[in-house]
Amino acid sequence: MSELTDSHAGDSLHEECGVFGIFGHHGAGALTVLGLHALQHRGQEAAGVVSYDHGQFIAERHPGLVGDIFGKNSPHTANLKGDNAIGHTRYSTAGGSAVRNIQPLFADLTGGGIAIAHNGNLTNAYALRSKLVQDGAIFQSTSDTEVIIHLTARSNEATVVDKLIDALKQVEGAYSLVALTAKKLIGVRDPYGVRPLVLGKLDGAPIFASESCALDILGAEFVRDVEPGEVVVFTKDGVESYFPFGKKKSRFCIFEYIYFARPDSTVEGQNVYQARKAIGAQLAHEAPAVADLVVPVPDSGVPAALGFSQASGIPFELGIIRNHYVGRTFIEPTDGIRHLGVRRKHNPNRAALEGKRVVLIDDSIVRGTTSKKIVQMVRDAGASEVHFRVASPPTKHSCFYGVDTPNEHALLAHEMSVAEMAKFIGVDSLAFITMDGLYRAVGEQRRDPAAPKFCDACFSGDYPIRMTDADLNKDSQLSFLVEVV
Ligand code: SF4
Repeated sequence: MSELTDSHAGDSLHEECGVFGIFGHHGAGALTVLGLHALQHRGQEAAGVVSYDHGQFIAERHPGLVGDIFGKNSPHTANLKGDNAIGHTRYSTAGGSAVRNIQPLFADLTGGGIAIAHNGNLTNAYALRSKLVQDGAIFQSTSDTEVIIHLTARSNEATVVDKLIDALKQVEGAYSLVALTAKKLIGVRDPYGVRPLVLGKLDGAPIFASESCALDILGAEFVRDVEPGEVVVFTKDGVESYFPFGKKKSRFCIFEYIYFARPDSTVEGQNVYQARKAIGAQLAHEAPAVADLVVPVPDSGVPAALGFSQASGIPFELGIIRNHYVGRTFIEPTDGIRHLGVRRKHNPNRAALEGKRVVLIDDSIVRGTTSKKIVQMVRDAGASEVHFRVASPPTKHSCFYGVDTPNEHALLAHEMSVAEMAKFIGVDSLAFITMDGLYRAVGEQRRDPAAPKFCDACFSGDYPIRMTDADLNKDSQLSFLVEVV
């Protein structure tokens, strides 16, 4: 379980995965690699592509960054022949980081092969997997995507699409998935639409991607978001769309707007950069500060800081410079080395900060250890006051829908009041955007507690999707290595 523990050890939240698929376009494998490159921010530990060519599926799945695996002259890219392909970029949470868990996963079923790549997390994966193992299933990986494959394989439905739908009717949780068969490209979003999935086209060839930035890199056209609960199937004869899961109220992850999605993406009809600027402006309105500078914690705090600066009239400065060539701090094995990781990643810009009253803007506070070090760094560089403003409400609860979060007792806001947090991270003042303010910034009047438009469970504790594994005291985001193998 050590790989698991390490994956939760960092002081930031991580999206688990990005998915991509293209059907009926020359060079589909290479186009998928490019799409995954644009989705690299959604997962940096491994990437995989499965293409289909002349009766066979070809899989290239490797640990590392997309550019390192599939870069110039890569034999892996050259192998990906055919006009149809799907791909996945991965951050390990469900199932740990073993090579056998790298997606897309592939299986031969009655009626033909299927490859599946999935972004999200199943909240009854443990329960389903335990039952499947009792019934004799032999799992190759510890990924919850394989649960979907086993359920698909065991379905009595006639077609692969109906088998997949039958399987998905049994799962709970958040998923946006793409699947490839010999003759079909399939895209599905869970009934609550928690994770994003967009539809595009390039020279008439359909594309599925987690975010619109993966279309932009190809010069492809954005068509629309896949609807919550929608199954979209492309064949060479055209497209079909189904809603087989019954009508549910959409609960898109509001944290996609705050942090996960790339700012140049448009998801669920909203440009992420504009949403982040609006959050910063709302924060300036709700929690003003008397200060000389607005400084973002780069990179994710930049659009909100711009919004705060423009709304408040306080000048924006790059008071902290980020080194983009540093590995993520979470992979460091001990607290001592992780501490150095923060310093390696961020450096204060003394010339901008010296003698100034600073409003520091960040997207969220998780454990608080990084925030504390950044505040100290800014003070050491000569800032006379530090007022911390956070572009999300306090993160008090764990996510079970595809985002890597620590146990809630490791979340600073779960354990402390705002005043205690301010003292802990060492600031002159601390404020978070309100929940209603956040909803306002993304186009709503306020949060309707009876029917919230988004998933905001990590702030509110109001989880929209049942969590069977958590109720069984089994964390579905945890590896099954210990429990099952
Ligand atoms: Fe997003 Fe938070 Fe809901 Fe997870 S719990 S899906 S991070 S809003």
